[in-house]
Amino acid sequence: MTLVQEAKQIEPMIIEIRRKIHSEPELSFKEFNTARLVAKKLRELGIEVKTNVGGNGVLGTMVGGQEGKVVALRADMDALPVTEDVDLPFKSKNNGVMHACGHDTHVAMLLGAATLLSRHKKEIQGTVKFLFQPAEEDGGIGGAKPMIEAGVMDSPKVDYVFGLHIWSEMPSRTFGTRPGPFMATPDGFEIKILGKGGHGSRPDQTIDPIFISAQLINALQGVSSRIINPIEPFVLSVCSIQSGTTDNVIPDKATMMGTIRTLDEKTRRRAKQSVRQITRDICAAFGAKYVLEFKKDAYPITYNDEKVTKRVIEVLGTIEGTKTNELEVRLGAEDFSRFLQRAPGTFYYLGTRNEKKGCVFPNHSSKFKVDEDVLKYGAASLAKLALEFGKE
Ligand SMILES: [Zn+2]
Ligand SMILES: [Zn+2]
Repeated sequence: MTLVQEAKQIEPMIIEIRRKIHSEPELSFKEFNTARLVAKKLRELGIEVKTNVGGNGVLGTMVGGQEGKVVALRADMDALPVTEDVDLPFKSKNNGVMHACGHDTHVAMLLGAATLLSRHKKEIQGTVKFLFQPAEEDGGIGGAKPMIEAGVMDSPKVDYVFGLHIWSEMPSRTFGTRPGPFMATPDGFEIKILGKGGHGSRPDQTIDPIFISAQLINALQGVSSRIINPIEPFVLSVCSIQSGTTDNVIPDKATMMGTIRTLDEKTRRRAKQSVRQITRDICAAFGAKYVLEFKKDAYPITYNDEKVTKRVIEVLGTIEGTKTNELEVRLGAEDFSRFLQRAPGTFYYLGTRNEKKGCVFPNHSSKFKVDEDVLKYGAASLAKLALEFGKE
């Protein structure tokens, strides 16, 4: 029997786990019940389990019957602060919290892979580590970093690491990835413009932070269009601006927040330096003070090892019933990148777009809906990567 045929046999179990987690979503750093469910399932499979690894993280370790490499497979477990707007029998019971990024499916697919691998334990060369990670959506420190600090990539040292993400933009039953840089590093920033408030009719007596922020937003777009090489993937977006209370008072300050996305360290440094310089000079020109801060601990660039990823594409090509595409770079971000800094590996997508089933809304949308048909293929792909790379 092939792994896909075996995965079809356990499909009802994978779907049941997914629905259970979907109906009880938990936000970043609060994945208590999800982690408990994961630990219980792993123990039932006879897998050695450590809980509370770097927060709510769970580490499962399966030692195969033969010598080989150490392969780590990762799933993230957290949900988003979104109110679900899909009518499903297993709709979220936690108001205002939803698995709108499909991390419920990641947990279910990895538990599916663990089930498949436990049936093949004797044939496994090496060791498989199952990393169930909290707080991917946090966007700051995230959940990968504390798990790595807790030692999940060491003793035994991980040789290869793989992570799978469900993706609404690709058709169902397609895998996609890319050797080399794949996803961006997100540098969030906040600029406080400190002016001097006063009467709306006497701007000459004020330092107007709203006027200055308008100049600044325009000038910051010049980083994209006039400073960074136009063939380099790059985006700068100002996503929030807060100031003022009424129609006849010029306020004291304005606060702007935004994000810079880059795929290359040199471009990243240049962009951040330009933001600093433009902010300083525009504020100086109109006499305002300012505070500019970049968020600490930005997720690194998701870099798929080229050699490993070419091999991954070959392995995914053997999963019958699916197709594998090489994708363009993306400017989203993932803290799976932190695992990739510790071991070569691949982050890859599994498509779930299916018009007939109404699975057409993007990840993070309140209408996001997964085509559950694809979960068995995801589980089979993770198991297959562990089996193949154990031998490499
Ligand atoms: Zn997400
Ligand atoms: Zn996600």
